[in-house]
Amino acid sequence: MDIWKLSAVELGKKIKEKEVTVSEALEAALLQIEEKEADYNCYITVDRAAARERAQKVQKRIDSGELTSALAGVPVAVKDNMCTQGLLTTCGSKMLENFVPTYSAEAVNRLEAAGAVIIGKTNMDEFAMGSTTETSAYGATKNPWKKEHVPGGSSGGSAAAVAAGECFFALGSDTGGSIRQPASFCGIVGMKPTYGTVSRYGLIAYGSSLDQIGPMSRDVTDCAVILETIAGCDKKDSTSIDRKALSMNDSGWTGMDFSAALREDVRGMRIGIPRDYFTDGLDDEVKASVLGAAKTFEECGARVEEFDLSFVDYAVPAYYTIAAAEASSNLERFDGVKYGYRTAGYEDLHSMYRKTRSEGFGTEVKRRIMLGSFVLSSGYYDAYYLKALRVKALIKKAFDRAFETYDLILAPTAPTAAPRLGSSLSDPIQMYLSDVYTISVNLAGLPGITVPCGMTQAGLPVGVQLIGNCFMEKKLIQAAYTYERAAGKFPVPSERRGAK
Ligand code: GLN
Repeated sequence: MDIWKLSAVELGKKIKEKEVTVSEALEAALLQIEEKEADYNCYITVDRAAARERAQKVQKRIDSGELTSALAGVPVAVKDNMCTQGLLTTCGSKMLENFVPTYSAEAVNRLEAAGAVIIGKTNMDEFAMGSTTETSAYGATKNPWKKEHVPGGSSGGSAAAVAAGECFFALGSDTGGSIRQPASFCGIVGMKPTYGTVSRYGLIAYGSSLDQIGPMSRDVTDCAVILETIAGCDKKDSTSIDRKALSMNDSGWTGMDFSAALREDVRGMRIGIPRDYFTDGLDDEVKASVLGAAKTFEECGARVEEFDLSFVDYAVPAYYTIAAAEASSNLERFDGVKYGYRTAGYEDLHSMYRKTRSEGFGTEVKRRIMLGSFVLSSGYYDAYYLKALRVKALIKKAFDRAFETYDLILAPTAPTAAPRLGSSLSDPIQMYLSDVYTISVNLAGLPGITVPCGMTQAGLPVGVQLIGNCFMEKKLIQAAYTYERAAGKFPVPSERRGAK
């Protein structure tokens, strides 16, 4: 048995049935890391010793019947912008090259309470700003399907680690597509939950009103089970929502028993395809794959039709105004005093601040801080920041209108498959525009999932995105699961290579 090819839930079962030990599962992932890391660079930190020790402890608690969750004993990788107690957390930045948190993010705590074993921390765009993982201070991650291509970003390390079998599942964070886009580029499943569903406590903030943690997994079943494990109201995050209170008076769709939605059925579901998403910038092969997925939904009994979403052209400028504004404020705390890096030589307090921030932050982060400070400055606040907030409200309204007619919206996840390494950063505006299909989901606080739906001629995966109304993750999971069953399980990269 190739342990590393199992999904998280399959592995959890085998561990429970004593077919595989927790240590064997961990060693299987560590072996993949040994063999592939030099090529892919998915991780910033791998803590073998701590993971091995934890595997032993978890095994004992499984054997004693204390740990019964589906993820007990399953090795996981965590994006490096989530605090992990005692384990280096760099956020992909030189600024935090020596930051070892004294506490863990709530999502990480929940995974650990369920018995998952953290292998290490994955590579990412610096402070989650980027779409390729090339802005990391720790070198770019490569796409396991084709090494010359990016894995997407900003959670590119997590996506590549899952695709390469260097972990069984991973956590990512999504401010404007950073779970869904790399998942799509690497041929895995990724979900951004409704804002407020997963606690942001211990997630190093980028755009606080947009950030959500979510699952990155081999299949939809894993995605549902991971979400069920990490979701939940948390008093430590004031934007966290008590969904249990909500689900008492509804049809059952808004509940948090996400794995209950793993049923094959989309009969009668109304799925809308935004006509305005299928315009010039969309690659022909991606378009064909996504429309092919729409056809599969129809064959499974859904009612699929096109509609006009509107405001699509305004989503990118509104997002980059709001995200940069929030980032410029959130990143003020990195001043060489409280955390991480401090410059070696300085004359006074101000020169210490200036030199620390000049040396600690990379180019893309500085660009966002400058843009954010500009749109928040007096005289420009109304013209840019406030206007962007108004556009955000209009985008939310456009989705509200769509969900009066449709259960779900089907769209591409990204306009192209993974670009070549080195081809994106030279033109930031072009890179920002490529987020067009993912960012409005964050602006409107909605849940979105991406599922692999095809391959390009060049051998790169393509993902189809499903978007739901607030709290409708179960509808997304049910539809995505139905699609995955109908389309057949997506291969892992090495299987694909072996088949050739
Ligand atoms: N690419 C987008 C950005 O750079 C989204 C990043 C994210 O979701 N963290 O802001």
